[in-house]
Amino acid sequence: MNINKTRLIEEFIELVSTDSGTGEEREIADKLTAKLKALGCSVYEDDAWKTLKERSIESNTGNLVAKLDGTQKDVPTLLFCAHMDRVTPGKGIKPIIENDIIKSDGTTILAADDVAGIVAILEGVRTIQENGIEHGDIEIVFTIAEEGGLNGAKGLDPSRLAATHGYCLDANGTVGTIVTSAPAQKGLKVNIYGKAAHAGISPESGISAILVAANALTRMQLGRIDEETTANIGIFQAGVATNIITEQAYLEGEIRSRNPEKLKKHTQHIKDVLTEVANEFGAKVEIEINDLYPSFNLTENDAVVQLALRAAAKIDLQPILGKTGGGSDANIINGKGIPSVVLGLGFEDVHSTKERIAISELENAARLVASLIKENK
Ligand SMILES: [Zn+2]
Repeated sequence: MNINKTRLIEEFIELVSTDSGTGEEREIADKLTAKLKALGCSVYEDDAWKTLKERSIESNTGNLVAKLDGTQKDVPTLLFCAHMDRVTPGKGIKPIIENDIIKSDGTTILAADDVAGIVAILEGVRTIQENGIEHGDIEIVFTIAEEGGLNGAKGLDPSRLAATHGYCLDANGTVGTIVTSAPAQKGLKVNIYGKAAHAGISPESGISAILVAANALTRMQLGRIDEETTANIGIFQAGVATNIITEQAYLEGEIRSRNPEKLKKHTQHIKDVLTEVANEFGAKVEIEINDLYPSFNLTENDAVVQLALRAAAKIDLQPILGKTGGGSDANIINGKGIPSVVLGLGFEDVHSTKERIAISELENAARLVASLIKENK
């Protein structure tokens, strides 16, 4: 079962050259709708942009939810998923092919994250069809707004999907990497209110929100907490002038863990430290905690993982089972009840202008999609 390498590369070049920032997926969504229809899929565009609006992202594009009827019944429905948006700087991408490598011209990202996933799905399905291979029902979801919060996937309506096996093509690592576990993430927004005073005339009557924040930060455990838990404060804003004891400080951060108990415990630790320090200083603290996405923990025994192992082995790819510290649409889709893993695409240095991918990895990714469909019995 050989894939059409020339067509695969051409489609990759075409799609990375199509601008598609988060909330700006209209053009690529229209191209993909036409491609999916050409495969014989029915395509539905949902209204996930409505949930984006609640998060202050303007968009007029929904997730694409496509369905290809199987030639075989009584086999599990497979879901393939990739995201249409990309990070900045991702406009006017001019891909360069150098031997087996595709890279950007160095002024933008390449957007192999996640165009590599998109073309692997399209070419994998085409290969199955062109080889006349029997297959079950296939669902394909191309999401909007994955970058910056998995917001498109959050708006997906799971009642439109029948799949029992989900494959999100969006992971680091060579093709063959199967990510079976990822952490949940909580977001943390903290406002600290001290008391303003003139820094030269009456500093003793002020309460510095900066000092409260700084004390709290030195007392809380941040960074790598353990093998499955991390915490970070990534934003610290405070102060307007040097002659004012700072009245207000703002912190924003995150806590992640693959273990729900540890996530809860560490979130409580951070809240306790903030409250304790604020009390010591006589300041006030407001803490807002948001559940950003759930974790998932699959094992080798899960059917979705077993099929991936089988499909990889069939095409002589070395399967590597992995766990990640990052989130992806698979977190949301697992949370919506479809067991899903994330598959490695072999892209390198994503989210940077050094981003690149080997053509051989692109081919492997398309072959793996075809193999998953073929081995699904
Ligand atoms: Zn991605």
